[in-house]
Order: sequence, then structure tokens, then C-alpha cells
Amino acid sequence: PFHKSKGQHILKNPMLVDTIVQKSGIKPTDVVLEIGPGTGNLTKKLLEASKSVIAVELDPRMVLELQRRFQGTPFSNKLKVIQGDVLKCDLPYFDICVANIPYQISSPLTFKLLSHRPSFRCAVIMFQREFAMRLVAQPGDNLYCRLSVNTQLLARVFHLLKVGRNNFRPPPKVDSSVVRIEPRKPLPPVSFKEWDGLVRLCFNRKNKTLGSIFRQKTVLSLLEKNYKTLQALQLSEKGMSEEAGMVDDEVAVLADTSEDPSMEIDGERDDDEMEVEDVDREGERSDFKDKVLGVLKQGDFEDKRSSKLTQVDFLYLLSLFNKAGIHFS
Ligand code: SAM
Repeated sequence: PFHKSKGQHILKNPMLVDTIVQKSGIKPTDVVLEIGPGTGNLTKKLLEASKSVIAVELDPRMVLELQRRFQGTPFSNKLKVIQGDVLKCDLPYFDICVANIPYQISSPLTFKLLSHRPSFRCAVIMFQREFAMRLVAQPGDNLYCRLSVNTQLLARVFHLLKVGRNNFRPPPKVDSSVVRIEPRKPLPPVSFKEWDGLVRLCFNRKNKTLGSIFRQKTVLSLLEKNYKTLQALQLSEKGMSEEAGMVDDEVAVLADTSEDPSMEIDGERDDDEMEVEDVDREGERSDFKDKVLGVLKQGDFEDKRSSKLTQVDFLYLLSLFNKAGIHFS
């Protein structure tokens, strides 16, 4: 009866459901958002603890089952079920999100929640164990990656609970963890696109030094294209301001940021694999290359590796690049 493709793994351990609800710190005045309520085991406890629950469920059969379960109970007027794909629908206001989600939407859902306004107080979410460990990973940890850095720019993330696969029916192939995500208020004053552009480059080869990453021809030529376009834009802004808008569209986007800004978690390249055209050709000088390497030297970043850099390091590096007129989006 359960759809594997929809990630339908029902929580069957009532103690675990209680623990999740307790740890989420729901207040009686809270509006709770639940994603993928399924048959409603978690929904029931959320209804008991909160003012109301909005549940978004993709599978119409589950929606029916859920409505049947609470029909004629005091809970029915506290529950609003939205049938649809949570990634495609407009989310309403909520104070807190509690969910046992289908794991295939982990990354886009996390960033959809973090870009939701007004911002919520916290989200307590069950993820696949490895995804959870990436979310909370710190510099120097094996799983520290673009997902860690990007999430932690926008939120504080805490590991709450390890959950074995046998707490679900049917059991998934992997273990899980419950994580607490608290959006930062206020957010650090950087453009997320700019930030992600830099972080994406740095983690493309996370164990290489920044010096070798920023000597790659493809990296340099893209950054130079951005640089020149912005310079032209600034020049023309001084003169004819109506032309400026046309130049704006041509700023090269380093990476395809239209795609989910986060986080293919296995998108990092093997460090031993080097593309011939990308290798720095010693002796090939350019003013722009000197400029880029000058920025790295200025902040003492040339020999550093992304796998060890903190949020503060990345913020500082981005500010140095930006001050030199070098941009990543
Ligand atoms: N919350 C229930 C529980 O803990 O027992 C069920 C959790 S099950 C892991 C995930 C649920 O999310 C399923 O009911 C599935 O139909 C639903 N679902 C899958 N993809 C979805 C999507 N894109 N939007 C909303 N719900 C989705």
C-alpha cells in the first residue's frame, strides 16, 4: 500500500513520535507546518500540542485517510490539509515546522523553508543520517561541504536524535536523524547568490588549496568576465543610465544558480582528477590573475583548503574579493 517513490515510511514507534514532539518545543499558541503527514501518527500529537496544524501531503489517498482519521474529533477544526507537492505550493504562515519527510526532497525543502518569509522559529525534521550529518558538519569534519556552509549561513543547526531504520514501516535502507534548524535573525549581510557562487567554487575541489582552485583557467576566465561586465556597467552608469540595465543581463553566472542553490551532496570532484584544460599553465601571466591571487595573499588564503574554512573565513574572503571588484554571481 505504500509508495516507495513518494518516500512513504510511516513512523510506527509511538515513543519516538512523543520524543520528537517534546523536543520541538511547540507552544499551545503555535501554528505548526507538517510536511508529508502520511497516515497521521505525528499529526495527532502535533494537534494535541499546538493551536493548529497545516499539513501538506502529496498522495491523495493519504489525504483521505488523514481526513477520515480526524473527522468528528475535536481536532478536525484545528487541522488544515493541503493536497500537493510541498516544493511547488505557496506555504502559509507558520511558527514551527515538524516533519518526517520523504528524503528525496531534503535539500530543496530545506532551502525552500529557509527562504520562506516571514521566517519561522524553528524546524524539527527527520532526515537521512548522512544528510543530517552534512547539515551540522563543522570545518575539518569529513562531511563538511557546500550544504553545511550554505545552511549554516542561514541557520543554526543542531543534531537532536539518532533514529534507527526499524522505527519505520516499511524500514528504509538507511538510518535517520532528527535535526533542529533555527533561522538566523538577522541574516548575515551578504547576497546568498554571491555567497553560493564563491562556496560552490571552493568546494568543487574541497581538498585543493584555494591558490590552485583560483589558478584554474575556467575559474579565472569566468571571474574576469563578471569583472569586466560590472566595470562596463559602472562606467555606463556614470554616463547614460538607461543603457546600464542592458549590460546587467550579461553578467556571466559562474555556475547555474537557477538550479537548487544547495547542494548536490555528491557533486564534489575527485581531487585526483584534473582536467587538462583547467590546469594552470605556469608562466602564463595576466593582470587579472595577479589581482585574484593578490586577494588570496592579502587574507592569507592561498594555502588554505575549503574543508577547513569557517563561516567567518568565507565571509572575510568574499568581502576581500568584493572590495577588489570581483564578484561571483
Ligand atoms: N509523517 C508520516 C509518518 O511519520 O508516519 C509519513 C512520513 S513519510 C516518510 C513521507 C510522506 O510524505 C508520505 O506520506 C508521502 O506521501 C509524502 N510526500 C512525498 N513527497 C511529497 C511532496 N513532494 N510533498 C508533500 N508530501 C510528500
